[in-house]
Amino acid sequence: MDILVMGAGVGGLAVARVLLAAGHRVRVYERAAEWRTGGAALMIFSNGAAVLHDLGVSLDDVGGRVDRIDAMTAGGRLRVSMDIAHAAAHHGFETRAVSRRDLMELLADGVPGDLVRYGKACQDVTQDHDRVTATFADGSTATGDLLIGADGHHSAVRHRLWGDAGVRPATFGTWQGLSPIDIELTRTHRHLMITGREGACGLIPAGKGMLQWWFDVPWSPGDRRPAAPLAELRRRFGHWASPVPEVLAAATEADLTFFGHHWRKVGPVWGKGRVTLLGDAAHIMPPTLGQGANQTLEDVWVLGRELARDGDPAVRLRAYEKARYPHISLVSRMAKRNPANWRIPPLLGRLIPETSQTAMLACYSNRLTARSR
Ligand SMILES: Cc1cc2nc3c(=O)[nH]c(=O)nc-3n(C[C@H](O)[C@H](O)[C@H](O)COP(=O)(O)OP(=O)(O)OC[C@H]3O[C@@H](n4cnc5c(N)ncnc54)[C@H](O)[C@@H]3O)c2cc1C
Repeated sequence: MDILVMGAGVGGLAVARVLLAAGHRVRVYERAAEWRTGGAALMIFSNGAAVLHDLGVSLDDVGGRVDRIDAMTAGGRLRVSMDIAHAAAHHGFETRAVSRRDLMELLADGVPGDLVRYGKACQDVTQDHDRVTATFADGSTATGDLLIGADGHHSAVRHRLWGDAGVRPATFGTWQGLSPIDIELTRTHRHLMITGREGACGLIPAGKGMLQWWFDVPWSPGDRRPAAPLAELRRRFGHWASPVPEVLAAATEADLTFFGHHWRKVGPVWGKGRVTLLGDAAHIMPPTLGQGANQTLEDVWVLGRELARDGDPAVRLRAYEKARYPHISLVSRMAKRNPANWRIPPLLGRLIPETSQTAMLACYSNRLTARSR
């Protein structure tokens, strides 16, 4: 088939790889004028790593391996400990914190250099029984057999299909950075997730002396950005237990970026006719569980399998959406909650088995729970 993909982010590149490998003609259209490799680190859990493995992408020696996630109180007491190495042993794939740049470069490796057409902002999508046409902001058009909207958070394809009703701000946003911060934690494989009344903080060793760090704070779209965000973070979180003050002391304003989060209820049908959605376009949610990129890769894996089967392509697209629905619906509902609200008292936390993430990852995943067809 002749397949049009809107968006050259993680999902757009990954799905292009799968479809090219299956022998389809693929054209990817990206709104940005050039290749976008920005961003901090993404957590690739066993489920995302399994899909990457199937795409021929190895994460060996990329980023930092995460063996344990410790949820802490602001005062430094352990709430819950999660044995992520157990999930790796059980599912066969490690969890790693990988910079978005590294992931994008790995996905782009081996795809034709002219696959992505830049400066093409999709504005409209129309279809008849046999073909689908994208219209771009520059007035040009492209026509193919299928169209995949992988155009991220503020998807124009989703807007064209469903409008923006249902997209809601998630009440919080994240200040984050990926920078060389020389503290003991950076040299470990331990991810700290700290929650208190003031918000939440995540610290993830990302390999080669880099630390991924983030702070969740209350946010709504009308809020003014603070003039000096780092000073504001130091004021808000600087009294938390070590290593939070050390991280804030070593961070610089230049390291900081802000994301305000949104959420939309995921339904069992994402597309219409010869059009579907994939990744953030289909399931916009806050990064509470660190599953955004992983769920995008799960979409890619299921869509690739559905399109490899015979039959009406529109029917195959609906089968893909239906197969993803139970998993993404669970992830999306859990991710909706601000992590700062998950302040499990330490005494209660001791009752939660350390290996609980192993089973949770299976619940989140089509790939890890698939039986071969
Ligand atoms: C520059 C950037 C930095 C990011 N940094 C982080 C980060 O630090 N941490 C984190 O957890 N997540 C980050 N994300 C989000 C994360 O990459 C995604 O949540 C996840 O990987 C899902 O991938 P996706 O392909 O659905 O969306 P994305 O990776 O967001 O890709 C969507 C792509 O579609 C393009 N696009 C948008 N509108 C149109 C249009 N109308 N027509 C054509 N193309 C369009 C965008 O420019 C983008 O390249 C970042 C995304 C981007 C684009």
